[in-house]
Amino acid sequence: MTGSLAAASASVKRVIPAPAKRWIRQVVGAREHQSVAVPSGPSEGMLFFNGVCSICGHHGVFEADAASQLAARAFPCPHCGAVVRFRNEAAVLVDELGRGRHLSLATLLADDACTRLAFYNTGVAGPVRGALRAMTNYVESHYRDGAEPGELVDGAMHQDLQALSFTDDSFDVITSSHVLEHVADPDRAFGELFRVLRPGGRLIFSIPVPWPPSPTSRQRARIIDGEIEHVEPATYHESPEGAPSLVFTDFGTDLLDTLERVGFTASQRRPQISIELAFRDSVFVAMKPRAMN
Ligand SMILES: [Zn+2]
Repeated sequence: MTGSLAAASASVKRVIPAPAKRWIRQVVGAREHQSVAVPSGPSEGMLFFNGVCSICGHHGVFEADAASQLAARAFPCPHCGAVVRFRNEAAVLVDELGRGRHLSLATLLADDACTRLAFYNTGVAGPVRGALRAMTNYVESHYRDGAEPGELVDGAMHQDLQALSFTDDSFDVITSSHVLEHVADPDRAFGELFRVLRPGGRLIFSIPVPWPPSPTSRQRARIIDGEIEHVEPATYHESPEGAPSLVFTDFGTDLLDTLERVGFTASQRRPQISIELAFRDSVFVAMKPRAMN
């Protein structure tokens, strides 16, 4: 027993009954063995865990550089290469649509219950999109300045999330990966995504959120008379689809209130809360309620 654990046990002995103390010891013990750097492990100075890839279904060891703070880029799948950010998006999709019967998109999307669903992905890159695009009823879009809604640009459909050209109640599932922070008026975009979802349909999306979370969202930039006005110093994210994208909003936990105001039932999920680094990454689920009769 380490000195710190002995001290912790000594302090709990006085106030916590024996069964709870055993539980605490197990938990503390588990923490000591989780995501630790080990001299004879896969690599020196790495965090690692054994797990399953929620995209391709691979079982194996996932590693991350212990010095890295970039959780979203950590723990790539040794088989398909998807990093934790994308696997977290997939994990929430698998849970939401699979109702506990699947571990990965690989098997979920082959399930009869999924093959009939209408999917819309608000991007044209990434491993989740790579899996979803195999679906029969799948649409994807990207944003291109000056294009008409629905117009094909560079082989992909242009859509402005603030003014979608889709009819009401078009989709069962909408997925979005680090896109909504780049939309000038996210409230309007959430309203549009709500409109084109069918009752009972879900918007499952990720955005970068800090840990610890901020209680309030902050507008970094806005559009005034068609021109970008910077409220905060301009921040750009690399985009796999082209030029770096300006960040308009740093979202806080009040995002859930925004989603509820739009009409969604919303929650924030942290699929890998027990894994150091990965616990910071989260995914949002916003469901359009079924019509009440
Ligand atoms: Zn994989």
